[in-house]
Amino acid sequence: MSRSTMRSLIEQHIPIGGQWRQGGGALMRSVFPADQSINAELHAADLDDVEQAVAVADRSWRAPAWRDLPAHHRARVLYRVADLIDAQREPLARLQTRDNGKPLGETRALVDSAAATARYFGAVCETLDGVLPIPRSAEFMTFSSHEPIGVIAAITPWNSPIASEMQKIAPALAAGNAVVLKPAEATPLAALALARLFEQAGLPPGLLSVLPGRGSLIGEAIARHPLVRKISFTGGTRTGRHLAHVAADKLIPTSLELGGKSPTIVLDDADIELAVQGVVYGIYSSAGQACIAGSRLFVQRACYDHFIQRLQQVACALRIGHPEQEGIHLGPLINHAHRDSVATYVASALAEGGQLRFGGAAPADAALAAGSYYQPTLIEGLSPQARACREEIFGPVLIALPFDDEEALVAQANDSVYGLAAGIWSRDYRRALRLAARLEAGTVWINTYKKFSISTPFGGFKESGLGREKGREGLLAYMQQKSIYLGLDATPMGWSQ
Ligand code: ADP
Repeated sequence: MSRSTMRSLIEQHIPIGGQWRQGGGALMRSVFPADQSINAELHAADLDDVEQAVAVADRSWRAPAWRDLPAHHRARVLYRVADLIDAQREPLARLQTRDNGKPLGETRALVDSAAATARYFGAVCETLDGVLPIPRSAEFMTFSSHEPIGVIAAITPWNSPIASEMQKIAPALAAGNAVVLKPAEATPLAALALARLFEQAGLPPGLLSVLPGRGSLIGEAIARHPLVRKISFTGGTRTGRHLAHVAADKLIPTSLELGGKSPTIVLDDADIELAVQGVVYGIYSSAGQACIAGSRLFVQRACYDHFIQRLQQVACALRIGHPEQEGIHLGPLINHAHRDSVATYVASALAEGGQLRFGGAAPADAALAAGSYYQPTLIEGLSPQARACREEIFGPVLIALPFDDEEALVAQANDSVYGLAAGIWSRDYRRALRLAARLEAGTVWINTYKKFSISTPFGGFKESGLGREKGREGLLAYMQQKSIYLGLDATPMGWSQ
């Protein structure tokens, strides 16, 4: 396929039940957060579109063309889509940068992650075993098969579009399901481009619909639809809790990837330079708009002052700027309303006794005035009970707290409704592993942060989520097991005495 431009990947229509057509809903806009220019206008889906997409999805996953397709044929679609994504790496990255303002370095990484995810789930679904060995002498043998669940509702946020969408679509299709995807209001473009690539990769029609629109209308209608048999959601804890109620009413499974308030811990034996770089990356990359952002920093008192001084030097040297420029560290936040919310958290932290060490405002640079930019910010001196210490801010705001001993540290680090991730910086792996075992978090990074392997399960403890994505678990999450018993005994069945 010839190389496309970013503009040529922008779809005017949306894929509904195997047909690309205009959505029946209101006109919606994708806006570039760097300067508020309009990337695209398209019609959202309406409730009739939901009905159509789900009904066709239900027929499509049951159809022999999909249902009877061996796993390695489904895998081929995923391998082909991965190749198509590789071929469009640059325009797909630029499309996402336009949608959510993330710097190109980050959106390229999201594209690579999407391609790797498609390949991984293709490979795992091809090699998944189901049959148990035949017992030597027995009345029966038994085996179990992994079957698809049916129509999957996939609902995604705006911060890592193509990567988080592929984390749901690839395993769901690999497992033989159909997907109806509702991308975030702010970022419909990558999901639509992805649907087009799946079509080009030979996915039979009707198995992947993308329905942009309001979460409370279109997302809700998809989740509630009686033919939808699983909800896979990534987003805020409030919406996740709501969707868990919807799933409970229908008695269907959910996978929920929700918020976080992740602690990063610097022990007194850490390599300070490595730790500073890691902590800065952990909170300020993506301008803090990441569920795994290391937003609470605990530094052992013996090295606290020195550490914070160095952190300030490194953070204040980060380049904030236009996300389409190379070498930028922080782009704009997703929109002005979100920046206002971040600023409100900073104001509340200062009102509750916090001291601003640096940041705490939009950058002064006039060239950035139209974008929703916010400086890397550090607040010290807060009580762990303060709002900014407890709630997810989803912006470039780090709260630093010194600690004296490990007992107090563990209690404080775990004193959160969330349990998504944690970071530990120490030269002593025994000490770090001991601490890792006591932290209530689904992912613990030691001497690194925000690194991912597609074969390693990801998910949250406590209110950070339910279930796991990635890894073998990420595929099994879209399957249900059926156990089959085969009688091997020719004599009539007897009653147990
Ligand atoms: P965030 O704070 O990350 O935007 P949300 O939870 O609000 O998180 O949104 C994540 C996704 O959930 C978006 O695609 C949004 O449209 C969708 N959404 C919001 N409310 C609902 C709802 N009631 N039912 C289904 N989806 C919803």
